[in-house]
Amino acid sequence: MRLDVITIFPDYLQPLDLSLIGTARRNGLLDLHVHDLREHTHDRHRTVDDTPYGGGAGMVMKPEPWGEALDQLTAGDTVPHLIVPGPGGTPFTQQTARDLAQEPWLAFACGRYEGIDERVYEEAAERMPVSVLSLGDYVLNGGEVAVLAMVEAIARLIPGVIGNEQSLVEESHEDGLLEYPVYTKPAVWRGREVPEILLSGNHGAIAAWRHEQRLQRTAARRPDLLSD
Ligand code: SAM
Repeated sequence: MRLDVITIFPDYLQPLDLSLIGTARRNGLLDLHVHDLREHTHDRHRTVDDTPYGGGAGMVMKPEPWGEALDQLTAGDTVPHLIVPGPGGTPFTQQTARDLAQEPWLAFACGRYEGIDERVYEEAAERMPVSVLSLGDYVLNGGEVAVLAMVEAIARLIPGVIGNEQSLVEESHEDGLLEYPVYTKPAVWRGREVPEILLSGNHGAIAAWRHEQRLQRTAARRPDLLSD
């Protein structure tokens, strides 16, 4: 999969060199490019923002640098699916990650300040699919943290990125329930024992216990998932 990220803080994306995502890049499973939006400015101050039309607080990202940065991605025969992180977007869920993991090329536009001039989305949508996606109902300072989270959630679903793919099947949100509690050695830690059933070797009973734990945990922490 090819991934392009456009940002005014390329250094923010350095964690994508680490851990499983970094390994996937080095193995050629992910072809990831980070672009500095300021490369597409033409003034001495490399300006990417200006005051909002209509007044109000904060600054808005100017359309011209974004237009040029996106032109570079659409110069060839194929185009990426453009993802624009934003608190006003459609919620990014595990299903979104699954859908996007099927795509050959994703580009991410990291907003800052009060966001990107709306015409950038409109113009981009004439030449590529565009999705505005929210990480959750809270406001971040910029899209970079959202992109880190989205790229990690998407990339780990690409075959070969995670060593043991069975671990993907058993996770929270894969089938609408949260995961069961997990334990490792030692069997007793600070006086706390691992649930006895897990030491029984009875795989059927363990599976039934885990399912019950998933139901209880989901009911306690995320009852909204059970009512869907
Ligand atoms: N004025 C915008 C609003 O109220 O919708 C918020 C802008 S926010 C301060 C700056 C940038 O952070 C956004 O353009 C977006 O890239 C990113 N961002 C903030 N919250 C986000 C969220 N919950 N999910 C995804 N991206 C977010």
